[in-house]
Order: sequence, then structure tokens, then C-alpha cells
Amino acid sequence: MPQPISQSISQHRPRVIIVGAGFAGIFAARELAGAVCDVLIIDRSNAHAFLPLLYQVATSAVESEHIAAPVRGIIRNMGARAANLDFCMAEVRSVDFDQRLVLAEGQDGVSLELPYDYLLLAPGSVTNTFGTPGVDEHAYSLKNLEEAVRLRNHILRSFEAAAWMADEGQRQHRLCFVVVGGGPTGVELAGAMAELMAGALTRDFPKLGLSRPCVTLLEAGDGLLPGFPESLRAYAKRKLESLGVDVRVGAVVERVTPEGAFLKDGGAHRAATVVWTAGVKGEPVAARLGLAVAPNGQVLARPTLQSAERPEVFLAGDICRAEYAGRPLPMFAPPAIQEGRHAARGILRLLGGREPQPFRYFDKGMMATIGKKAAVVRLGRFSFQGLPAWLLWLAVHLTYLIGFRNRLFVLANWAVDYFWSERCVRLISRRNPLA
Ligand SMILES: Cc1cc2nc3c(=O)[nH]c(=O)nc-3n(C[C@H](O)[C@H](O)[C@H](O)COP(=O)(O)OP(=O)(O)OC[C@H]3O[C@@H](n4cnc5c(N)ncnc54)[C@H](O)[C@@H]3O)c2cc1C
Repeated sequence: MPQPISQSISQHRPRVIIVGAGFAGIFAARELAGAVCDVLIIDRSNAHAFLPLLYQVATSAVESEHIAAPVRGIIRNMGARAANLDFCMAEVRSVDFDQRLVLAEGQDGVSLELPYDYLLLAPGSVTNTFGTPGVDEHAYSLKNLEEAVRLRNHILRSFEAAAWMADEGQRQHRLCFVVVGGGPTGVELAGAMAELMAGALTRDFPKLGLSRPCVTLLEAGDGLLPGFPESLRAYAKRKLESLGVDVRVGAVVERVTPEGAFLKDGGAHRAATVVWTAGVKGEPVAARLGLAVAPNGQVLARPTLQSAERPEVFLAGDICRAEYAGRPLPMFAPPAIQEGRHAARGILRLLGGREPQPFRYFDKGMMATIGKKAAVVRLGRFSFQGLPAWLLWLAVHLTYLIGFRNRLFVLANWAVDYFWSERCVRLISRRNPLA
């Protein structure tokens, strides 16, 4: 039986633990590099993943390795000032707030008790099915690298299977795909799927005689991309339709079965593959800690991003219920980055004997792509679309992607796709245990 290990990070210096090496965790760590404290980042994965490009992994555009960077490599690249940072690959199970211990399961099932003086919780979010029957069993989701590779394998395998199906009805069913959720993830995924099928896969499978992709996007609300200006929402719908995506708004999915997605109004969209991108909720570990949570699983935070109950505990990223202009901030990367930095500064202020300051979100805007060469962007009061928006989307995503090598490979893959409509990553990998 593995024995608990009590690990003292340091006898003398204040100890900060960051749970989660996502956007919030990594940007907090950067802020704390070189400070007079010892910082331990804990994540169940050994890599930081750039989630906004997951849909490109799922649609054969980029390799999963190229949108992730090992946490230890990120720390090393921060240079000598990051000597106070360390990493532990472990699953956080619980926190003993009274003893100030993070309880985690390390590699080989080792139990770890990791002491802290300040704790930053940034474990992100998980897919929210809203209890819709059949989603867990029959739908694909897109929330981490493993799921993205699993979806890519499944799309490619569907075409390989269809190529040898004698029955026309079965073949049609196997080649139809439904995406549920008209937010940025659903819009980007549906557009990229349609392009993959109309381009590389139509050329790879000439005998299938595909005339157009069979991709349906279902959105329960009255339009795509809630939160974007009306003109951009309408443009996104038109653009998706021009790619061959069947866009249905006001379509509330009631259940998912192996046959497809069935709607509340009695409608049915028959497809062998349903991908659920309709919602996210706070990572469940936070609710298990006994902290006050909102109905969507986010932990309630003070304006300073400290926990309502425990001032030595800070929250950042998707797990944190913070507000901007009287409304909860969306679970997006810019709030996560800004909250991570702010929480770290709050910890530094406490270390210096000062009170943390309230968090103020700087709204940089929002963007989403609709296939290649087209995107929608809102920047403050300005909004634009088409190729200029896509070029800006490209630049922003390359800037935030961690690692020079990753940027180089992703850019190379995008160039091949841009000029030759070719998707480079069409291997059905057998190493993914989920596939
Ligand atoms: C498919 C997809 C597309 C998206 N597209 C966009 C976009 O275009 N623009 C945008 O702004 N945002 C986008 N987002 C949202 C954005 O990625 C998130 O808001 C952001 O990643 C949140 O950052 P975070 O640090 O809170 O969490 P994450 O980045 O999710 O990181 C959380 C980390 O915590 C770790 N973790 C969780 N629980 C535990 C545990 N118990 N023990 C140990 N480690 C744990 C996880 O392994 C993970 O590494 C997208 C998200 C997805 C899934």
C-alpha cells in the first residue's frame, strides 16, 4: 500500500500552491516567479494545453502535441528567476483547510499531503450536459486533448467504415455529424468539420461520391454566438451555411441516442455522431471541497478573488465566479489569464502585509473563426468579420500558444491548409486509450 508522503516545500519561506496548470495557473505562476515564496503547481497532466485549438486537433488540422507544452519546460523557459517554482503531477482529491494541506494522488497511486500558506484554485471546468439523457453515453465532447484525439480518430474511422458499407442508408447515417451548441466552440468545430469533409476527406474517399458535408449545428437559443454583436452572429450563420453546415436555432436537444439527436419539439437529427459543446460547469473537485458554489459549479469569490470563506484561498479561471458590469464573467481564456495574474498579485500583497485589491476585468473583446479565412471579432466598440478578422484571430492565437516550436508547427500546418486545403494529421492513432 502506498504510504502518505508529507512533503515540506520549505521550512522557512511562505508556500503557495497552485492547483491547475491551465491559463489561470500558468499566468499566476509567471507572476509569482522570483517572489519571496516557494510555489508548487499541481496538475493531473504534465502539460499545459491550449484549449481554444482543440477543435483543430479534432479536425486533423494540428497535432495534439503542438498545442500543449510540458509544465516543467514552461518553468525552465522562465529562466533563473523561476527557481522558486516547482511542479507536481498529481490529481487533487481534497483540501484540509484547517491544516492547510492539499491532499492529492501522485503517480503510482502515491498519496501526497502538500502544505501551503496560500492556495490558488484554478482547476478549470468540465462539460455540462444539463442532465440531458444519453449525452454521457452516446455523445462526444471536446474539453481536453484526449477527447480531441478521440473525436479525430472517430471522424476518420467513420469514413473508413462508410467506405465499405453496402447499405446506402447505413452509410449516410455514418457520415452525418451533429454538433450541439452554437457558442464559439460549436461554431468553430462545425465549420472546421465541414471543411475537412468537403476538402481532404472528399479527395481521400472518391468512391463515396460525397457531394456536400453532412454537418448539422443545433443551438437552443435564438441565434449563434450569444454575446457577440447581432451583425457578427448573422454573418457567422451565413458563413457556416455557405460551408454546407445545416444551422438550426431554437433547437433544444431533449435526448441523444446512437441514432442521433432528438429535439424537444419532436424533431430528430439522425447521425451516427453527436458532439456536445453546449455548456461547461466548474470542475467538480471544487464542489467537493465544501466551498460555496453557484448552480454552475463555479466557486463564489470575493471581489478580490479570495474565497468567501477562506481568505488565504484564491480562485481564478473557469472555476471562479467573478463579475464584470454586474454579470458573471464568461468562462473564456482572457478572464482566466487576468484572474490568474490578479490572484497572484493578491498573494504577493498579503505576503507584503497589504490587503489584496478588487479585481477589475479589462474587456479585450471576443473572437471566433468560421472555417479558414473567416472569423468574427469584437474589439471594444468595433466589430469586424471575414479575412481581416481571421488574420487577427491567427495572430492572437499564435501569440498565446506557448513555445516557439509549437507556433512554428501550427503555422506550418495552417499554411498547408490555407494554400492546399489539406489537413495534415489524418492518422487514426491507436495509442489513445479512450478511442
Ligand atoms: C474546445 C474549447 C474551445 C475554447 N475556445 C476558446 C476561445 O476561442 N476563446 C477563449 O477565450 N476561450 C476558449 N475556451 C475556454 C478557455 O479555454 C477556458 O476558459 C480556459 O482554458 C480556462 O482556463 P483555466 O485555467 O480556468 O482552466 P483550464 O485551462 O481548463 O486548466 C485547468 C487545469 O486544471 C487541471 N485540473 C483540473 N482538475 C484537477 C485536479 N483535481 N487535480 C489536478 N489538476 C486538475 C487540468 O488538468 C487543467 O490543466 C475554449 C475551451 C474549450 C474546451
